Amino acid sequence: MKTTKKILLPESEMPRQWYNIIADMPIKPLPMLHPATKEPLKPEEMEGLFAKELVEQEFSTERYIDIPEEVRTLFKIYRPSPLVRASGLEKALDTPAKIYFKNESVSPVGSHKLNSAIPQAYFNKIQGVKHITTETGAGQWGSAMSIACRHFGLDLQVFMVKISYEQKPYRKFVMNTYGADVVSSPSTLTQAGRALLAENPNTNGSLGAAISEAVEMAMTKPDTKYTLGSVLNHVILHQSIIGLEAERQMEMADDYPDIVIGCFGGGSNFCGISFPFLRHNLNSGKKTRFIAAEPASCPKLTRGRFEYDFGDQIGMTPLIPMFTLGHDFQPASIHAGGLRYHGAGAIVSELQREGLIEAMDIHQSETFRAGILFAQAEGIIPAPESTHAIAATIREALKAKEEGVEKVILFNLSGHGLIDMASYDKFLLGELSDFSVPDEDIAASIAKLDKLIK
Ligand SMILES: *Cc1c(COP(=O)(O)O)cnc(C)c1O
Repeated sequence: MKTTKKILLPESEMPRQWYNIIADMPIKPLPMLHPATKEPLKPEEMEGLFAKELVEQEFSTERYIDIPEEVRTLFKIYRPSPLVRASGLEKALDTPAKIYFKNESVSPVGSHKLNSAIPQAYFNKIQGVKHITTETGAGQWGSAMSIACRHFGLDLQVFMVKISYEQKPYRKFVMNTYGADVVSSPSTLTQAGRALLAENPNTNGSLGAAISEAVEMAMTKPDTKYTLGSVLNHVILHQSIIGLEAERQMEMADDYPDIVIGCFGGGSNFCGISFPFLRHNLNSGKKTRFIAAEPASCPKLTRGRFEYDFGDQIGMTPLIPMFTLGHDFQPASIHAGGLRYHGAGAIVSELQREGLIEAMDIHQSETFRAGILFAQAEGIIPAPESTHAIAATIREALKAKEEGVEKVILFNLSGHGLIDMASYDKFLLGELSDFSVPDEDIAASIAKLDKLIK
């Protein structure tokens, strides 16, 4: 293994403000709509579900928003995170490209999710909320919320997508260790869950279904609010700390990225690393490319449609203007559980519509091969989600080699895979298959949206 070069930002230079790209967007995202009236959603209407400050952030058009000191103090447990020159991977690929990655796997829960879990728990705490509900796919967001809620003395009910609950029991143990209550979703705790179970007792569950359950419980139980780990504007805002730090670290390395890459579930880590750099495309003529790497089995950006859709499966959340595969699209049981979500956030969807970002869909056999190459070259076993970003990076690095150009590529390592070794085992045994979604399935799922707001 070749030694990699770490670029460390001093703690004193950790960002004091988050960056809100809406301020710089030439065309603003369309408004969210109320699920019943189909009228533009008003902030007050979100306050039943989310803490007030988070709702303010959701609707904010301010360019910079202060990070509370208590949140910054907690961030110091693992931030600023390292930027690493992936010289081992460069060598393995024999590419003229310079590859850097931002290592978000160093957080105590092993992913970038804590960047939003801490402020979300904090803003609920200062408002006097007692109970939090949330959903989790692979368990990363649930783990992050579990420790954040513990810190601020809030209790947490996690609805964990059934397929992950069964494939990834260790994340459930992590959540339990931090003191959270975890059920497999669909569950019998909510009306939504009972209805879904009655419809299909053998369902794998989905993030959309788990969201329905968590939202229902937050709306029906006193002193309870809901939290979401991706998609929404306030989550994207919190994750901007990744790119703001990376921007400073790239300066320290005396480089600027030609290409920025992140894997894509609902968009939080991709947007987090991308938007501070995209700001310079919008404001000062930089020409960086931004690539969202999504699974071929859940290709919302590459093959979905831009349309108003619900964030959940039952239709309780606001209607979001998003690239979507349809809110009851059932993705295949791929191992990147965190990428099995039907839609993309409103901001990133608008940027995709305008061609300001690109998307790439990749099969899991290619991503696991990329993950193993990365592990052997750089020493870190990436999360199955993150292997999508690595596979896209490898495609671009090999293209640079073919073209004989020295590109600077920056990707986000959203998490490590040490709790996902069962997936690696399956891959190594040759038991992982690729799932292509037939066009008819996507068309049928999206066709159901025609009646939503017309
Ligand atoms: C949740 C998760 C993702 C996908 O979510 P985004 O909101 O798209 O970032 C990717 N990687 C890891 C490690 C995750 O935990």
